[in-house]
Amino acid sequence: MSLPNYVLEDVFNAINLGLIIVDAEYNVLFWNDWIFKRTHIKQAEAVSHKLDSVFSEPLSVTFLNAIKNTLEYGLPTVLSNALHRSPLPLYDLSLQTDEKTRIPQAITISPLQSQQGELYCVIQVTDSSTSIKREKMLRSHSEIFKREANTDSLTGIYNRRFFDEHYKIAFHSAIRQQQYLSIFMIDIDFFKDYNDYYGHLKGDETLRAVAQALKSQLFRASDLIARYGGEEFVLILPDLSEEQAEKFAEKLKNSIFNLAIPHVNSSLFNQVTISIGLCAGIPQEEYDILGRADAALYLAKQQGRNRCVMLSLL
Ligand code: GH3
Ligand code: MG
Ligand code: MG
Repeated sequence: MSLPNYVLEDVFNAINLGLIIVDAEYNVLFWNDWIFKRTHIKQAEAVSHKLDSVFSEPLSVTFLNAIKNTLEYGLPTVLSNALHRSPLPLYDLSLQTDEKTRIPQAITISPLQSQQGELYCVIQVTDSSTSIKREKMLRSHSEIFKREANTDSLTGIYNRRFFDEHYKIAFHSAIRQQQYLSIFMIDIDFFKDYNDYYGHLKGDETLRAVAQALKSQLFRASDLIARYGGEEFVLILPDLSEEQAEKFAEKLKNSIFNLAIPHVNSSLFNQVTISIGLCAGIPQEEYDILGRADAALYLAKQQGRNRCVMLSLL
């Protein structure tokens, strides 16, 4: 037993899918309710008219070519939403606003041949709004996740993980371009004593203040600061001469000194200070610029703290 035609028509009007059927001359043969609801053009107004004359707006060339191809070669065509956002002038007319935005669509055009050999084209339209919204949400979730994965939760600056990745890129780019690269290893002086006297929470607050003060010294997009670990920070700045790098280290040191955060437990300064190990030079593959900066920091501590020591790149 087969379904009578009038039931079939009800089915076509009930489905959540736009359906248009045209013949080989592009005349509309069928136009379901889904399309009517999004155009306010009734089936009776569309049937027997050429498809491109039914709409008050011109149809996209890609869409018309797709129908032509389907009719000529008998092959189905898919217009994905990613490449063709909105081929047909369809609107969400349920909204009571003057501003009309076209519904994003995915369209499948399939050939159909009658028993008498006549060729037709079945155009199926789906509304992609929901899948686009879902995709956008997923994308923004993954961006937030990526940002969180790269950020140090205490200070809000980049974390060690991100620094390691960025360092590799900056190091190889400096080798390729034969450009200077400067690494500044920074360690807060007598910070264990600070925590012992002021408590860990106050220590955290000071770590945040130091991170922000150091960060505020950076002005170029190429420059980066990260928390390297505990009370240690690292800065990477390309394209500074040794002299410029040394001056910049002095600025960093002063920026923390000028915060004038009391540290009565510091055996030398009565306020929070930093030591800086700097290494600057044009790197080569085998050079260990990070190791040199670390060695320079060790010297700065040995030589009395609250200072910067620079080692050239071997
Ligand atoms: P030096 O001048 O030689 O660097 O002495 P120091 O006391 O700073 O060095 P040390 O490495 O002995 O101590 C580092 C201290 O930093 C120990 C630890 O309590 C503190 N620290 C590390 N991470 C954090 C943190 O996230 N929050 C707080 N409040 N303190 C931290
Ligand atoms: Mg340390
Ligand atoms: Mg320290």
